[in-house]
Amino acid sequence: MSKFWSSMAKRTEPYVPGEQLDKANILKLNTNENPYPPAPAVSKAITKEMERTIQLYPPPAADDLRQSIAAMYNLAPDNVFVGNGSDEVLAFSFMAFFEPGRTIRFPEITYSFYPVYAKLFHIPFREMPLNEDFTLCPADFFGAEGGVIFPNPNAPTGIYLSLDQVQEIVENNPDQVVIIDEAYIDFAPESAVSLVRKYDNLLVVQTMSKSRSLAGLRVGFALGDPTLIEGLTRVKDSFNSYTLDRLALAGAKASIKDQAYFEQTTANIIRTRSWVSKQMEQQGFHVLPSQANFIFVRHEHIAAKTLYEQLKAANVLIRHFNKQPITDWLRITIGTDEDMEVFFEKLHKLLNEEN
Ligand SMILES: *Cc1c(COP(=O)(O)O)cnc(C)c1O
Repeated sequence: MSKFWSSMAKRTEPYVPGEQLDKANILKLNTNENPYPPAPAVSKAITKEMERTIQLYPPPAADDLRQSIAAMYNLAPDNVFVGNGSDEVLAFSFMAFFEPGRTIRFPEITYSFYPVYAKLFHIPFREMPLNEDFTLCPADFFGAEGGVIFPNPNAPTGIYLSLDQVQEIVENNPDQVVIIDEAYIDFAPESAVSLVRKYDNLLVVQTMSKSRSLAGLRVGFALGDPTLIEGLTRVKDSFNSYTLDRLALAGAKASIKDQAYFEQTTANIIRTRSWVSKQMEQQGFHVLPSQANFIFVRHEHIAAKTLYEQLKAANVLIRHFNKQPITDWLRITIGTDEDMEVFFEKLHKLLNEEN
């Protein structure tokens, strides 16, 4: 604490991201990064941009990239907002659509950045408890005073809410914005993007960090009614004209062009996820049905924290949340088949030592 800090700097409780260890030989299964490299065209596009135009400011409205994203989803460019990672898009959304003094709702177990934004922007919130099996009860989110936000699939559980149920939540909050954070949707059945033209209160937020292997490039986007997009643009232009640099714009655009590569790497992860889930069950873990690129598991009798620490000592990083009611659970990112074979080798060793 310093006397020079504003009340904003004082009240904020910053988000703590997963560890990024700069150590060789670490198997990193803790922050849901993609184990595959981005599409080959990405680095070519970035190099070309670097050589030709990097001395120039980027286009502030990012029209080219917005056009590519719109075309991918059969929307118009004025349905698309882009930002420096979806975390930034989410922060702008809190500022643009949620009101200090009006209570928003999100699930009790969810992405831990939401309460951080809410506190920073003075937005009161209600954390809605989940069912015993970690599913979300749609009716709990009807008629929210200040708006709704949740990830689909949810994080860190990986549990997916059907499109019908998402639609019910949107329909039952006609005067408030409902934000669906679809960071993991490409590993799941169906996006709510198909509802964007129908509902002016729906904002769908996605990222290129997970399914497109571009976490380091920082590209996220929002899809919604043009009036919502305009609200986001107003906030962004009052903050930073150039949130996306030229390299990010070029790389993101190249990634979207290579649909075949995207489909193949995504299918690989889904296939590995199903194999890993079965293996974990055979090892005595309870595994939630995941539709994301991670699984959320609990061992029958070994404490999650112990297992997390033992795996870390064996150079395998997974995620443990020291927070009720999920202290017994571990989140494990799905890597390549080879990554997961190494993971199981080390896990077997630990489990055998335990017994
Ligand atoms: C990873 C993640 C994000 C942030 O992604 P970036 O685009 O890298 O900022 C947002 N929401 C959820 C639920 C996530 O898991």
